[in-house]
Amino acid sequence: MAQAQKITPRAKDFSEWYNDVIMQAELADYSPVRGCMVIRPHGYRVWELMQGALDAMFKATGHQNAYFPLFIPQSFLAKEAEHVEGFAKEVALVTHTRLRATGREGAAAIEVDPESKLEEPLVVRPTSETIIYAMFAKWIQSYRDLPLLINQWCNIVRWEFRTRLFLRTTEFLWQEGHTAHATEAEAEAEARQMLGVYRKFQEDWMAMPVITGRKTESEKFAGALRTYALEALMQDNKSLQAGTSHNLGQNFAKAFNLQYQTTAGGLEYAWNTSWGVSTRMIGGLVMTHSDDNGLVCPPRLAPVQVAIVPIWKSEEERGRVSGVGGQVKAELAQAGIRVELDLRENMKPGAKYFEWEAKGVPLRLEIGPRDVAAGQVMTARRTGGKAPAPLDWLARSAALALDEIQASLFKAAKDRREAHSIRGVTKPQFIEFMKQPGGFAYGGFCGSPDCEAEIKQATAATVRVLPDPEFRSPETPKLCMWCGKPSVAEAVWAQAY
Ligand SMILES: [Zn+2]
Repeated sequence: MAQAQKITPRAKDFSEWYNDVIMQAELADYSPVRGCMVIRPHGYRVWELMQGALDAMFKATGHQNAYFPLFIPQSFLAKEAEHVEGFAKEVALVTHTRLRATGREGAAAIEVDPESKLEEPLVVRPTSETIIYAMFAKWIQSYRDLPLLINQWCNIVRWEFRTRLFLRTTEFLWQEGHTAHATEAEAEAEARQMLGVYRKFQEDWMAMPVITGRKTESEKFAGALRTYALEALMQDNKSLQAGTSHNLGQNFAKAFNLQYQTTAGGLEYAWNTSWGVSTRMIGGLVMTHSDDNGLVCPPRLAPVQVAIVPIWKSEEERGRVSGVGGQVKAELAQAGIRVELDLRENMKPGAKYFEWEAKGVPLRLEIGPRDVAAGQVMTARRTGGKAPAPLDWLARSAALALDEIQASLFKAAKDRREAHSIRGVTKPQFIEFMKQPGGFAYGGFCGSPDCEAEIKQATAATVRVLPDPEFRSPETPKLCMWCGKPSVAEAVWAQAY
């Protein structure tokens, strides 16, 4: 174990705190490649648990996994005008295929072999719409081939200059769903359905409440007809876009000649959707729940849900408490709980508590000789609270405690979000609110991209979403909170990651 270091308090420096939590929990580390991170085993396990839950939900809604190439011909990106504009500034390009020895010393010992220049450069995928719809065009001939519902788990490269662990790195992991449908209504229903799947996952598994809604024209995905998003409020009152789902219309179908024969015998362009969530969600999880002692992980995504720490002074005591610890571990594992028994020597119980806390383990069981004699263990929740629990029915009481922790984390995050939201905001209130920043501001919006740009310039806040009905204020705003022109939709503004 690395030497335990103090975590910078959130109130002092949120950004430092965030990095400290990730490093102490051993979720990720900086790599020798600038802008790229290493996801360490504890962090990768969180990702695997996320993947497992989401993958089951994708399959339950009829999607199949497939895999497409990492490299995309440069010309593919150029086929959809908006799309190329959106990604041109951040692509990595492969132009050559080999190096050659120079006979010189050090770094100069090898150089690019000019003979190996590719006729057409390859883009390292920043997203896969182009390559996937090129393949769909090959596979789809008639209405009988529709809908086609595909998902891919993969890595993505988008060149970034200002990077932050999990939130913004040049390479990251994600899934991208890509579908083709016969009608616009079906594509729209699919885009909305997947937004709902993400919401369910983020609320039920990550215990992270989200606001769903539509993006404005200036915030939508490059090449989409409509973009829907999930936005979550972090503890520094900034918003994190936690996932997006796009109705792509026929934009890509037209660019890649993705046509199908209709029941009537005519030819029609298909309607596409794409949707994705990434390892960025781990950053969201950290910033939603964690505290000044380190990571707080919702039990359903915790790599270790219960850590058992036996406490002993003598060899004889050691035998007794670790024996009981072993039984408890077996019983909990049998009940499907992810459990560790911490029998490390030469480490004081206090240091073990500290480490499991930093790693976000939701529940700790302490077993001392007196507990064994009394037929009980001491339980300590990561979110606070210590209580003895009888050894009988321990698996059941641990499972109940984990459920309670899961529910309480969601409730606390939701209460926090609501306490940091203002509705029916006026321009002076808005300016004041965004100085700190204060959270989500709901208000009328005229729909003008110029007005949106002016607000961003003045306050660094952007429209996160035009919220879905259940998130809208009881009273529909009549005027744009900024320019005073008639409002076309209520908007949720925030400063964002
Ligand atoms: Zn306006």
